[in-house]
Amino acid sequence: MKNQIIFNRTSVLSLTLFISIFFISCAKNKSTETYFESMNTFMKVQAYGEHAEEANDAAQKYIGQLEKIISVTKPESDIYKLNNTDSYPVEINDQTLDLIKIALNMSEISDGAFNPCLYPVSSTWGFTKKQYRIPDASEIKEKLALCDWRKVRIEGKNVYMDKGMQFDLGGIGKGFAGDEAAKKMMEFGVKSAMLDLGGNIQLIGAKPDRSAWNIGIRNPLDKNSIAGILKAKNCAIITSAGYERYFEGPDGHKYIHIFDGNTGCPVENNLLSTTAIAASGTYCDGLSTAMYVLGLEKSIELWKKQKDFDFIIITNENIVYITKGIAKNFQLNADTGFTVQIIK
Ligand code: ADP
Ligand code: MG
Repeated sequence: MKNQIIFNRTSVLSLTLFISIFFISCAKNKSTETYFESMNTFMKVQAYGEHAEEANDAAQKYIGQLEKIISVTKPESDIYKLNNTDSYPVEINDQTLDLIKIALNMSEISDGAFNPCLYPVSSTWGFTKKQYRIPDASEIKEKLALCDWRKVRIEGKNVYMDKGMQFDLGGIGKGFAGDEAAKKMMEFGVKSAMLDLGGNIQLIGAKPDRSAWNIGIRNPLDKNSIAGILKAKNCAIITSAGYERYFEGPDGHKYIHIFDGNTGCPVENNLLSTTAIAASGTYCDGLSTAMYVLGLEKSIELWKKQKDFDFIIITNENIVYITKGIAKNFQLNADTGFTVQIIK
């Protein structure tokens, strides 16, 4: 009888324990998705865990605030102030300053392929207001003279540059947003999440079952299909391409939103998309844009020099070049007819 009571107590205890573990693991595996629009694109954040919803809200709020300080078009932003004055220095807040420093460092690393000061050029082509036009050679030359990123000087919180120079952090901003929003989400105890900021992916940890996330790399020739799947954990996967923002000239030519700072014209090469993979979203965003400008050979040189990222580069010869670090984790979509070449 006594044994029976003990047995019952144990059963009750075990059952309670089982139920608690069940509910804790359910809470852990509970995913919440939040969709919103920011930085001119659609975004989705998906966190798992007890505080997933609050974490998503915090991420959305943070990205909205960031947009307000780095936007080129919002008059209250730091970048707008910097771009629309002729009296220097301009004092700007720490976060914008950090991002400007990272952007200029990316320019150093990529030998100017990444240039956050190309706004005079891109706006004369009409990219900001979507009033596209093809400027003549003399106008391009005149605007290009205002795009020398080496002329930016930072002292404390003060930024100095030449009159007429203008910043555009569009090539790195979403990656930075991913890094910082992920940090905010982790403050809520989130250990597993995926942030999709207009196709730029930032991953926190692995999936709740500890397996890797499956990230589709878009087929640049067909928006409804993928070139392949990359298995990844705890990193950023960021793509630059000409397929989303471009215009067609009266000559039938396609002019894309990524500019070559040497010519002052939209990039034209044999690349269809460049994807960078590394821990930091800011770094990957800068790299993906830089690689698009650099082309395949120089991107390989950059990869060999830096040694701290991987890439997937798709060319118009239908070849998918992937670096050896991710080769085992990339599964090509055979339907595309693409072939894979591993860079070692
Ligand atoms: P997306 O914004 O489409 O995700 P990117 O990260 O490649 O793609 O950024 C492209 C944006 O970067 C352009 O819209 C423009 O704002 C800016 N940009 C264009 N050319 C360059 C360049 N050579 N270096 C840095 N930023 C650039
Ligand atoms: Mg980029």
